[in-house]
Amino acid sequence: MDTTFTATKIQTGEEYINSLKGRDLTIYLFGEKVDDPVTHPMIRPSINAMAKTYDLAVAAPELAAVTSPFTGEKVSRFLHVCTDVKDLVLQNKMQRKLGQLTGTCFQRCVGMDAFNALYSVTFEMDEAYQTDYHSKLKAFLTKMHRYNYVVGGAMTDVKGDRSLAPHQQEDPDVFVHITKRTEEGVYISGAKAHQTGVINSHWMIVMPTMRLGEKDAAFAIIGAIPVDAKGITYIYGRQSCDARSMEGGTIDVGNAQYGGQEAMVIFDEVFIPNEYIFMDGEYDFAAMLVERFTAYHRRSYVCKSGVGDVLIGAAAEIAEMNGVPKASHIKDKLVQMTHLNETIYGTGIASSYQGYPTKSGAYLCDEMLSNVCKHHVTKLPYEIGRLAQDLGGGLVATMPSEQDLNNDEIGHLVQKYLKGKVDVSTEDRMRILRLIENMTLGRNAVGYLTESMHGAGSPQAQRIQIGRFMQLEYKKRLAKIIAGIELEEDQDLLINELSGYFARVFKLA
Ligand code: SF4
Ligand code: FE
Repeated sequence: MDTTFTATKIQTGEEYINSLKGRDLTIYLFGEKVDDPVTHPMIRPSINAMAKTYDLAVAAPELAAVTSPFTGEKVSRFLHVCTDVKDLVLQNKMQRKLGQLTGTCFQRCVGMDAFNALYSVTFEMDEAYQTDYHSKLKAFLTKMHRYNYVVGGAMTDVKGDRSLAPHQQEDPDVFVHITKRTEEGVYISGAKAHQTGVINSHWMIVMPTMRLGEKDAAFAIIGAIPVDAKGITYIYGRQSCDARSMEGGTIDVGNAQYGGQEAMVIFDEVFIPNEYIFMDGEYDFAAMLVERFTAYHRRSYVCKSGVGDVLIGAAAEIAEMNGVPKASHIKDKLVQMTHLNETIYGTGIASSYQGYPTKSGAYLCDEMLSNVCKHHVTKLPYEIGRLAQDLGGGLVATMPSEQDLNNDEIGHLVQKYLKGKVDVSTEDRMRILRLIENMTLGRNAVGYLTESMHGAGSPQAQRIQIGRFMQLEYKKRLAKIIAGIELEEDQDLLINELSGYFARVFKLA
């Protein structure tokens, strides 16, 4: 099954793009089979965004690369398991930078967060059941490091009737599950929805999507699969205004170079050999995996603060092109956008700074702040987007097309009547307006807005976790002591008895 291993380690973005050529994948887009995703004009921007993760590792290795503990060589930080707070923090800094450089989702964090969660969960599973998942995971990671591959994390099942557990569904395929077992491994069927960057990955790790019960043991499967494994069909998720990238221009697309990618992945009896299986029936560890994965992934959404930097820049730029950069209400809106954007970053990076060690030695970020970060992300980019549209004006949604600008008959009219400040070219002004459209209504609004809402769990999922971690009993005791209901001596207990989130808040150093 090691057919997808290349001869050499991938280092640059160009080498990464070359590594995707000539693969035999079954991909459908617009009802047709895609021959070559690498040259497809609608798919290519997402590949470019992923390639940027490699180029950044070359240009800024301290930020986006690490020395592999397995191979001793430089590999992408996206393949690294965090062993201290600094590792967690640097993940976030890298994510913000990549958001700034691409203006979109660069797709590589799901695998990173999956590795980190799996590292500690497999360790604890082995401890409970004397299994050997942890060493198998490390062997797999070593292979990924050797080639510096992109690994996607495939978690979200299509779920069918949301009121039913996996084993209760009429069609068991709505949750990925084991269908057959041999001496060599297992076969799985089912589908995963919204898979970010999956077609741009080399491997993917399939994981359960939620807490499972005893009767769901067949759904408790974690395994690594090459993206070009036999039996997989990909159906590409179309995005708002995506067909513009088929028109050939560079203005109306808004962001000609970069885009995100989501696809539905359908598994039809896909084989996972024993060496790549990291959970097989341990249903009672599914919840731990989902919780740890989402703890990492929900603070990975600081990526949106990097994307927000681009949108704030576009809003400031259009104000300047319109000749009104100094108007007080415009400055105030830019300050407001920045405040919202930094709120996302602040909570995400704080979650990393409050990271702590698991039994395996891998560091986990603070779950409360991670959930608070992601909950902000479900809301604040919408407000930042609203303010960007406010500053952009109605042209964001009514502007003539690139073809009209280039038309022999009417091009001069577009030039004349879309002019802002005299020293700013009409085309440049149109480009900025199209970028605002791209990020708030168009292709990259998928990543900036809707993915912000639902990625790593919809808002309610964070509220449930925030509710679980909020330590109300502790807070009630605080109130009762202050109100004179409980004795003041109990305060000593409250100082020394800290647990959970507050243990990390008050940890010195
Ligand atoms: Fe990474 Fe953000 Fe894209 Fe998720 S949405 S894969 S965290 S860039
Ligand atoms: Fe995501």
